[in-house]
Amino acid sequence: MDKFKLIHSLSTELSTELSTGKMIMNGVKMTKILLIISGGIAAVKSYDLVRSLRSRGHDVTVILTKAAQEFVTSTAMTTLSGKRCYTDLFDNELESDIGHIALARNADLILIAPATAHLIGQMALGLCSDLATTCLMASDNPILIAPAMNVRMWDNISFQKNLSFVQSQQHITIIPPEYGSMACGEIGVGRMAEVDRIIHAIDNLSQQKKLLLDKEILITAGPTIEKIDPVRYISNFSSGKQGFALAKEAANLGAKVTLISGQTTENIPPHVKYISVLSAEEMLSQVLKNMPRDYAIFTAAVCDYRPQYHSQKIKKDKNQETLQLEMIKNPDILYEVSHHKQRPKIVIGFAAETENFIENGRKKLHFKGCDKIYVNDVSETSNIFGSDENQVVEITASSEEKLEKCHKNMVARWILQRLIEP
Ligand code: C5P
Repeated sequence: MDKFKLIHSLSTELSTELSTGKMIMNGVKMTKILLIISGGIAAVKSYDLVRSLRSRGHDVTVILTKAAQEFVTSTAMTTLSGKRCYTDLFDNELESDIGHIALARNADLILIAPATAHLIGQMALGLCSDLATTCLMASDNPILIAPAMNVRMWDNISFQKNLSFVQSQQHITIIPPEYGSMACGEIGVGRMAEVDRIIHAIDNLSQQKKLLLDKEILITAGPTIEKIDPVRYISNFSSGKQGFALAKEAANLGAKVTLISGQTTENIPPHVKYISVLSAEEMLSQVLKNMPRDYAIFTAAVCDYRPQYHSQKIKKDKNQETLQLEMIKNPDILYEVSHHKQRPKIVIGFAAETENFIENGRKKLHFKGCDKIYVNDVSETSNIFGSDENQVVEITASSEEKLEKCHKNMVARWILQRLIEP
C-alpha cells in the first residue's frame, strides 16, 4: 500500500457509521469548529462547507488568511457562520475580548480547508506569522487538514517532507486530496476533498475515540538490560519509539493501556499505566502480573540471553586477552503469553530481522504461537533503530502485507486499525 493510499484508508476506514447531529469527543459534545481558510481557488468551496457544517449542528468560527481574502470575503463568512469572521492577529477587539489563544482553545476541532502548501510548510516549521498559524501553534486539540494544490506542488519533495512531519503529530489528521482536473488545467492529485468527505472525516474523528473504548491492551517496549556485574550490562539499540507510539495511539482510541518498558528516553504517553523494568525476567514477571488483557503487543527488544551474574565487579586479568561470559537463555515472553491459559484474544509480536524477512518472520509466527508478526528490517543500512520511521511487513497465518516506510506513529495507527478491523 503506498503512502497516499495508507493516509486515505486511515481517514476513511477508521470509521464506523456516519454520525448525525452533535459529536462526542472525550465525553464532551464537539460542536465548536474553528475553520481556517487559506488562499487557494478551493476556498470558494468553503461557502458550501460552512453551510453543511452548520446544518449538522456545528458551531463554526472562521479565520481567513490574507490570501484567502482574495477568494472569499469576510462579510460572506460572517453571514454564513452567523459569527464574526477573523482575519487579523493584531486585532484590538480580538485581543481584548478572547485573544488568539482562547480562539484556538475554545474550539473542539480545527479544520483547515483548503490548506495550501505554504500553510502546511509554516506548520512544519512552527512559524506563527498571522492569526491562522498562531492559533494552530496554540492548539493541541484535533486538527483536520484538507490540502489543495496543483499536482506538481503536491508531488514536490519539500512539500511531501513537510506534510509527512505535520501528519506525524498525533493530533493532526490529513484528509487526502482527490485526483481530477484542476483549476490550472492539469490533471492529478491535489483537488481539495469534496465537502462530503470533509464532513465524513469530522464524523470519523468523533468515532475514533470509541474504537478501542475500555479494551485492555498490554504493550511491551524498549530494550532489556541484562547485568553482567554491578557496573556492567549488555543490551541493544532499541529506542522503544514504536511501542510508545502504539501505547499513545491506543490510549487515544480509548483503550486502557499498560505499557511495560525497558529503559528509554521516550516521554511516557498520557493516560497510560506505565511500568518500568530492566531485565527480561522483570519484564516477564510484570507481564504475567498484568494478565489477563484483551490484546497484547510485544515490541520490546528482549535480550535472548543474559550473562551469568557476577556479584562482584569482574577484574581485568593482565594475562588474559579474552574474557568468556557464560550466557543463560532468557524466558521468551511472547511465547509464554501466546501459550498462557489466559491468552489475550489477539497476540502480536515483532521480529527485527537483518535478512530473509518474510521467511524468518513466518517461522517466528509459528514458533511463538502469536496471531500476527510485524517484521522490520534492522540491518545496518536500514537505520530503523532509534529512527522516527519504520517499515514493516505484517505476517499472519494466511497473509502478508507490506506498509511502506513511514513515521512510527503512522505504523502504530495502521497496526491498531488492523487490530480493530482484522
Ligand atoms: O525471538 P525474537 O527476539 O526475534 O522475537 C521477537 C518477538 O518476540 C518480539 O515481539 C519480542 O518482543 C518478543 N520476545 C519476547 N521475549 C523474548 C524474546 C523476544 O517477548 N525473550
